[in-house]
Amino acid sequence: MVKIRDPTSKFIKIRCPKCKNEQITFGKTATKVACLVCGKTLAEPTGGKSRIKARILEVLE
Ligand SMILES: [Zn+2]
Repeated sequence: MVKIRDPTSKFIKIRCPKCKNEQITFGKTATKVACLVCGKTLAEPTGGKSRIKARILEVLE
């Protein structure tokens, strides 16, 4: 059985696909997360969970 880690329940480090800025956000966000540098939407809430649109570099335990 494959164990899938759920990144949306933890803090995650993500990288903006547009400007490569790295920032840390909570995976289960209730608000839209925008890149601090270029303003691109990196994550948006979808019914309790968030959809991450950026590259997840690391899941912080
Ligand atoms: Zn950016």
